[in-house]
Amino acid sequence: MDRSEAMRSIREDYIEYIQKRIPVDFDNGMQAPVCFSYEGKKHVVCRVIGRFRTQESQPANAYLVNVEGGEVYFLYFQLDDMEPRGHLQSGFWVLNFRILSDSELMALYREDRKMLMNMTFKRVVDFHGHLCPELVLGGKASEYAQRLLMERGKELSTVTIISENCTSALDAIQVLLGATVGNQRLMVMDFGKHNYTFRIGNGPHGFRLSLSRQIFGDEDEFQPLEEKIAGDRATLDEVVHFQELVDDRVRHLLASPPEALFVVDRVDPVGQAAEPTSCYLLCAGCGQQVLRSHAIDDEGKIYCMPCLQQIKTGCIHHRLQ
Ligand SMILES: [Zn+2]
Ligand SMILES: [Zn+2]
Repeated sequence: MDRSEAMRSIREDYIEYIQKRIPVDFDNGMQAPVCFSYEGKKHVVCRVIGRFRTQESQPANAYLVNVEGGEVYFLYFQLDDMEPRGHLQSGFWVLNFRILSDSELMALYREDRKMLMNMTFKRVVDFHGHLCPELVLGGKASEYAQRLLMERGKELSTVTIISENCTSALDAIQVLLGATVGNQRLMVMDFGKHNYTFRIGNGPHGFRLSLSRQIFGDEDEFQPLEEKIAGDRATLDEVVHFQELVDDRVRHLLASPPEALFVVDRVDPVGQAAEPTSCYLLCAGCGQQVLRSHAIDDEGKIYCMPCLQQIKTGCIHHRLQ
């Protein structure tokens, strides 16, 4: 179970409350529980899904963990209030709840927590492992590209794609358009942008989809919360709420027609698809040789990727997910 699925389960109350004191082996170096005993059974933690605070003023003391056998538990260390300050380690562990497994849920609820909407997208989600905003963006870009190619009477199999990000979106493109890094019909230039260039055949024509500015209306809440979670400073309630915001974004994106998300530009001309590997050009930025297939022409000057990245973006932004 991934984190987003776990948060949805907590939101929907697909859980079994336990609320019992338990013995826990805690690894201080890793700052994570290693194993715990419950009802005479030893549970070995194989993955920490999330770290939380139960009190704003205290460090992270609660853990959502995957144990061997696949079950997911939430446990926290309860500080002993009676202890004088300075004896921070005094307290006890509480096993708060367990998230119900797929087999314990009716099929309808199972799909609900995975947020599976339509069958085409189900294939993408199955491949990727979860549904997230970037996966939907990749799916929408693919849908748009398929339509534009069909209108132009072009075969999908002749198209090469350049993606300007290395996010979950790539999985949607690979599944829906069959262009993969392996078959060399998908190139990735990670500028952290949702821009996708589609080059048709070996010809000089193509088009580019770029994400238009999206306003979700939750930005004031979303961004500070995201930073708090990234810094392990959030409570479980906050993370559950954040997943709700993410899911709202996913729903909004799924309901948007592709033309509301992406702007289409004609790209003309673009380079040849198959490049000899021994052909090098000089980068105008660093003066080093760069494979022609990896060089980028920017307003008549040739750059290598790191130089262009430095010129164009300057910094790396947080991802949506
Ligand atoms: Zn993802
Ligand atoms: Zn360079």
